[in-house]
Amino acid sequence: MIADKMKGFVRNNSAVRMMFEEGNRLRAIYGADKVYDFSLGNPSVPAPESVRQAIIDLARETDPVVLHGYMSNAGFEDVRQTIAESLNRRFGTAFSAKNLIMTVGAASGLNVILKTILNPGDEVIVFAPYFLEYGAYVGNYDGKLVEIAPDTETFQPNLEEFEQKITPLTKAVIVNTPHNPTGVVYTEETIKKLAGILEKKQKEYGTFICLISDEPYRELVYDGVEVPWLTKYYKNTVVGYSYSKSLSLPGERIGYLLIPDELDGSEEVITAAAIANRIGGSVNAPSLMQKVIGKCVDEKTDVAAYDRNRKALYDGLVDCGFTCVKPQGAFYLFMKSPVPDEKAFCEAAKKYNILVVPGTSFACPGFVRIAYCVSYETIMNSLPEFKKLAAEYGLTPANH
Ligand code: PLP
Repeated sequence: MIADKMKGFVRNNSAVRMMFEEGNRLRAIYGADKVYDFSLGNPSVPAPESVRQAIIDLARETDPVVLHGYMSNAGFEDVRQTIAESLNRRFGTAFSAKNLIMTVGAASGLNVILKTILNPGDEVIVFAPYFLEYGAYVGNYDGKLVEIAPDTETFQPNLEEFEQKITPLTKAVIVNTPHNPTGVVYTEETIKKLAGILEKKQKEYGTFICLISDEPYRELVYDGVEVPWLTKYYKNTVVGYSYSKSLSLPGERIGYLLIPDELDGSEEVITAAAIANRIGGSVNAPSLMQKVIGKCVDEKTDVAAYDRNRKALYDGLVDCGFTCVKPQGAFYLFMKSPVPDEKAFCEAAKKYNILVVPGTSFACPGFVRIAYCVSYETIMNSLPEFKKLAAEYGLTPANH
């Protein structure tokens, strides 16, 4: 009955569902406070109070066209202008409303730009580990996903392999920083080198290679780390942004695509992207949420709460003898599995009511992702259980 293209997704979906159901099963038996579910990237910090207030204020609007009507496929002009000005203040850029297309979250934004630029067979490069949905998004437009192997020491992109894998068919490269699942932030040096390689290869092949910066975690950074603003380093950059994490609104589905004037063929790309938004089925981003963003554009989430979790979890795991790169951003920690088969390790963790995601789900076996967007109590209560798990693998507490 269903399309061949969907069959693999249906099979994989059962793995995600099983993880979800396992959490529910354990909670029913042991009680929610005795289950340490680190599997989901759902923000644990509530949306800022001003967001709630903006929703209440806006809901009073009764004119059907002002708030609830159809609009330009790119979204409300005033909201786009407000966002552009906010970006200009923060990054010293010169964007205006026309450079922004409001989207149904980052997922939709990525689909819109891929639909806009990909011909069947075009190649899109991604750096492992990566958000596995990229494969689905690229497949939606019959593109070909090209993976770069991970550097499991630093989780910075492997640029030697990257350069070798760029071909005349390379149409786009997706980067995600701060990064899901490792929490790593790409350094300015990395970005400069990556941009240099792209310039060189575009020239060599006479092609257009779009750098897609998927950055829903831009504001979630710790220890004063700077996240380079990519349009400054490479002109053919498109930014895909989302308020899912930065304002804790993942269910509301709101974000934007930013297409700079400097991008080759910018005007045509902007026009095509607005149409792709429409014919991809979103039509336009949710109007209420666009207006909320217009009122709350410079609001911030409580990064300190995630930071407290990050420190407690990282220190706790290192104390147990586990190995991981200290995350600098997002709300994920990518821990080395003590055995190569990390799925077996995830199964063993369940005995202690610990739920973590196998690295295979991010094209990086041998590691597990721990999403620390949970309560501080969950982190603290889980640490003795992690200690028992570590002992099962013969790991010993680290000496500090
Ligand atoms: N990109 C990355 C790296 C993500 O981690 C996520 C969500 O977890 C998304 C995109 C999708 O975000 P959104 O909820 O805005 O569609």
